[in-house]
Amino acid sequence: MEVQTSKETELVDITERVKGSIESENVNNGFCVVFSKHTTTGIIINENEPRLKEDILNMLEEIVPSDKDYLHDEIDSNAHSHLRSILLGSSVVVPIENGSLSLGTWQSIFLVELDGPRRRTVNVSIMK
Ligand code: ZN
Repeated sequence: MEVQTSKETELVDITERVKGSIESENVNNGFCVVFSKHTTTGIIINENEPRLKEDILNMLEEIVPSDKDYLHDEIDSNAHSHLRSILLGSSVVVPIENGSLSLGTWQSIFLVELDGPRRRTVNVSIMK
């Protein structure tokens, strides 16, 4: 799936779109792998609560400050985006039970944009 982001850093909730791709596959039980094909994004599962989303972005800024001098910045000045991506990871696995994603009540799947805005490609693979 293609995801157009609109900010330099943001959390984009892709849960409904992932659910949509499960339903069209007609799978009863299995696993769903959500994988981002980029080195400056993350894929995470957490709660879709506006202040928490700010807290997550603030945490990333605190752990990997954007204004530090990184070696990769001599090439394209987005080292902090790459480093944050490593912390978050590029994929999540979600069980499929009885034809739907087995997420907890407060769990949503996010693409985390770390060097936007850009058009991003996220693969959703189903393992039966
Ligand atoms: Zn780079």
